[in-house]
Parts: sequence; structure tokens; C-alpha cells
Amino acid sequence: MTAVRHVPMLIGGEEAAGRGVFEVRDPGRAREVVAVVEDGGLGHADAAVAAAACAGARWKRTPGEERALVISKAADDCEAAAGALAPLLSRENGGTLTESRMDLLRGTALLRDFVALAPGFLAPRTAETGTHWLSVEKAPVGVVALIVPWNSPIVLTMSKLGPALLAGNTVVVKPSVLAPAALTEYLRHLAALLPPGVLNVVHGDAEVGQALAAHPAVRKVSFTGSVAVGRQIMAAAAGNLKKVSLELGGNDAAIVLDDADFDVAVPRLCQGAFTRAGQICFAVKRVYVPRRRFAEFYERLCATADGYRVGYGLDEQATFGPLISARERDRVRGLAERARSAGAEVRELGRPTDAVDWDAGHYLLPAVVRGLEPDAELVAVEQFGPVLPVLPYRDEDQAVAFANGTEYGLASSVWGTDTDRAIGVARRIEAGATFVNSHNLSSLSFDMPFGGVKGSGLGRERTALGLQEYVEDHAIRLVR
Ligand code: NAD
Repeated sequence: MTAVRHVPMLIGGEEAAGRGVFEVRDPGRAREVVAVVEDGGLGHADAAVAAAACAGARWKRTPGEERALVISKAADDCEAAAGALAPLLSRENGGTLTESRMDLLRGTALLRDFVALAPGFLAPRTAETGTHWLSVEKAPVGVVALIVPWNSPIVLTMSKLGPALLAGNTVVVKPSVLAPAALTEYLRHLAALLPPGVLNVVHGDAEVGQALAAHPAVRKVSFTGSVAVGRQIMAAAAGNLKKVSLELGGNDAAIVLDDADFDVAVPRLCQGAFTRAGQICFAVKRVYVPRRRFAEFYERLCATADGYRVGYGLDEQATFGPLISARERDRVRGLAERARSAGAEVRELGRPTDAVDWDAGHYLLPAVVRGLEPDAELVAVEQFGPVLPVLPYRDEDQAVAFANGTEYGLASSVWGTDTDRAIGVARRIEAGATFVNSHNLSSLSFDMPFGGVKGSGLGRERTALGLQEYVEDHAIRLVR
């Protein structure tokens, strides 16, 4: 039996106790408690914001290069800690060890990317004529609240925290109650090198999140999570007209063109749909295939998914792990059952790993579904689980109309061997990102911003656009 972690809050450079504690259970072995976490309330949110406000004056005066040095050193410490944190992360969010290692390593890589980018980005832009002098300067926004989900907590937090701190803001992070332990431990390595109060962590759920989003001393809230909560964050932030960044859900369409090479497309697309049991904001969530190649594609997709093994995250055999909670598993199962009742074929594929205690966790096998109407529930909602609808289309125009016929607009993909044509189709899709012949960020270069259009959010993360989310441009103009 692995030891149960105690997870404190961090307020003003000190570990802080809550008004009680809550437990984090292992989604793969639900009887096991992974961590006991100090549960914050409104008073703790207030104290964390006050600590961040107090630390702000000094941190923003610290030269940008010095801030970058501190974050760079912290990235080294985080990297050294990553190996030990991966199993803890898998045990709290159910991901495989590979998924957890990637989350930790990419989180650190993001910090380094921002360290490299920040000094140039933050340098003032000046212009001068005989009569005028102008300086456009990047000032920090102030106290920033970062409210994050459980599925890739390290990457999703670092894509906010890196630019926020480097730009001179002070921060309160609110992790998800479902996976707060590895993230808090990671943040402790960062906080240890920062002046007290620059980085604070408060635990708790909706009440604490709402308090931060509404707090009059918080100048910006950056949120990653569901569309429904994103709306509430935006409403709460309206009180003092906070800046808001929202990275929300998606219903990513994959359009397979009639010249697609199935040897390439099927395994990549399948991975894009089922990694982390489909619990990724930009997973492939629906697939559109030309009618004349539909049957072949469907069989190939089913054959690939049938090779998958579902099991405990720490089991090296597992292709993917459990869903995050019994409620989520039942919700996804309900979507599949209603699709079946409506006359669709729901093909359950793959098999459990040899070692898994199936009933002890929230496991679901991968399923591929055909025979749905284009506006069926499973096609229209973000399923956020391993049940993938595949639908035929008549021509490119119809495929693009299907892809765009949603309030979501996070990512998407187009698959074809004529890449000029595929890129042409990609341009017609309403999304923050469209991949051609892939559907993942593994080959992500630092030059690619990430974020959604329409109901999938506001703003962009990564790149200079990600830094821009955490600054106010201050124009200073002198007339001689
Ligand atoms: P969630 O919206 O339930 O929770 C996210 C965070 O918000 C958690 O910290 C939670 O405690 C907090 N929260 C919950 N209710 C709140 C409220 N009323 N006010 C303020 N804060 C509140 O999301 P989740 O279940 O943790 O994550 C799954 C969702 O997140 C999916 O929809 C997924 O697509 C989306 N997501 C998006 C991205 C992206 O980059 N666009 C990345 C990962 C996940």
C-alpha cells in the first residue's frame, strides 16, 4: 500500500491548513485514498489574494531577466522532481505513466520556452521623431487567478503560470479537487525559489473558484475547464471587469478526405481519439468519412481500437486508464446506451489488461459507433470519454458544414495525401487549430498557439500570444 500524501495549501510562502480536509481517490482503484488535501474556503481565497497583492509591488519591480533566471532554475528543480511525481499523478487522475511523464516533462519544457521568449517580448518598443518620443511597455496585470482542471494539470497550469510570473504578475492557483496532489508538489518546487506570496495555492471546488473569479483584488482570471463553468467564471469576473482567458471544451471533428492513406490515418486518428480514455479537450470527438470509403475506414478503425488494452495507469500494458470518476463513466456509458437505443451500432472493442481489477475502478472499453444521425446526441455533445462516433459524408462541402455545425471550435483535423487540398479544407474549419494528418500536440513547436474559437474559449496559450494574455500595454508618449 502506497503512503497517503498530505497536501497543504501554500499561502504567503507558508504551508496552510484548511477548514477541513478532502480525500483524493484513485480512479483505477477507487477504494484507495491517494491524498488528503487541506480544503480551502472563502477566507483562504482572501488570504491568498492578499498575499499575492502584497508580493506584487516587489515582484513587478524585479528586472525581467532576474525573474527569468529564477523560473529557469525552478524549471531545473521541477524536472528533477518529475520522475518521482509521475506515479502520483497517474494514481490521482488515472492516466498511464507515459501520459503522466509527458505532462510533467512538457510542463517543464513550456516553462523553459517562456523563459527564452519573455525578455525579448517584454522589452519596450520605442519610437522617436524630432518632436515626439513613444514607449510602449508591457506592464503586469496584477494578481492573477489560475483555475485548472485535472486531466493534464501540469501542462495546463504551466502554460498559464510561466507567462504570468515572467511578466511580473503574482498568482493564486486553484487546482482541481480531483487531481491536486502532483500539481501542488510541483508548484512547491517553484514557490521555494520565489519571494513569499508570488505563487500561492488554494484548494477547494466551485466555491473557491467563484470567490477567486469574483474577487475585486484579482485583475485577471485564466481558466481551463468545461464550457458551463467557463460561463460562470466570465459572469463572476464581470464585477470588476477582470481580464478573462478561457480554455474550454471541444468537439473536435476529424475529416477524412477520399484520398487519405488509411495506413497512416487510422492509427494516428485512433490515438488522437482514445489517449487518456478520450478525456482530452482536443481529442478527436467525431469522425467524418466519405461515403464510398466508409465501410473500409470503419473496419480499419475498429481493428485498431480492438488492439487496445484498458487497465490501471501504472500497468505498463495499459493503452489507457480509467475515467476520472464513477459519475463520468456512467455519463459516457449513458451516451453510448442512448445511441444504441436510437438504432446505432455501438461496437465495444479492445480488452482489459491481465492485471486490472476491473470493478475496482471506473473503466470503460473503447467503443466505435456508426449509424447515427448527424445531429445525434453523441455527435453534438463533448463526450469526453472513449466512445467515438463515425459518420459518412457526401462531399467536402457537407463535411465542412458538419465540422462547423457546433458551438465548439477548439481543434480539428483533416486527413489526405493531397496536402494542398487538405490544407484548403483546414482553412474552412472554424477552430483555433487544425492539424493535417495528425491530431495531437506531440510534435508541437513553440510557434503554435493554442486556444478555441466560438464556445471553446477566449484567448490563446503558448507563444508570444500566451505572454500577451498576462500584460497590459502601457503607452508613454512625450511631446517635446
Ligand atoms: P470543470 O470545469 O469541472 O473544472 C475545472 C476547474 O474549475 C476545477 O479546478 C474546478 O474545481 C473549478 N470549478 C468548478 N466549478 C466552478 C465554478 N462554478 N466556479 C469556478 N471554478 C469552478 O472541468 P474538469 O472536469 O476539471 O475538466 C474537463 C473539462 O475541461 C472538459 O470540458 C475539457 O474539454 C476541458 N478542458 C479544456 C482544455 C483546453 O485547453 N481547452 C484542457 C483540458 C480540459
